[in-house]
Formats: sequence, C-alpha cells, structure tokens
Amino acid sequence: MPVKKCLICEEDAKYAIKDSKDYYCEECTQDQFGDISYLVKIEEMQQKKTGIDQLEEEQEVLKEE
Ligand SMILES: [Zn+2]
Repeated sequence: MPVKKCLICEEDAKYAIKDSKDYYCEECTQDQFGDISYLVKIEEMQQKKTGIDQLEEEQEVLKEE
C-alpha cells in the first residue's frame, strides 16, 4: 500500500484533511490543528475508497531477480 507523506516534515502521514489531499503525520497534526477532529485517518479513507489514484500508485512493480 502506498505511503502518504506528511506535508510538513515528510514523515509517514497518518491523517488527511477531509476532502483534500493534504496529509500530515500525527505530530504535525497536533501542532497545526490542536486536535484531530478535522482530520480523517488515511487507513479509514483507503478502506472506503478504492479509487484510481490508489491503483496508479500501486502499479510500481517490484522486480524479482
Ligand atoms: Zn509531520
């Protein structure tokens, strides 16, 4: 599964702003918003939405030797 990067520090993101493509890690979320009620967990988004975005990102093929 593709990993989203935090917009600020480029750590692995865990949260996204609803209806946007801004992603944040837990730490930056707390710094920026104070709480996470504005945000959704990326995990939950991905469970609901099996979009084309995600499929394209998963097309990176790992080659075996
Ligand atoms: Zn961050």
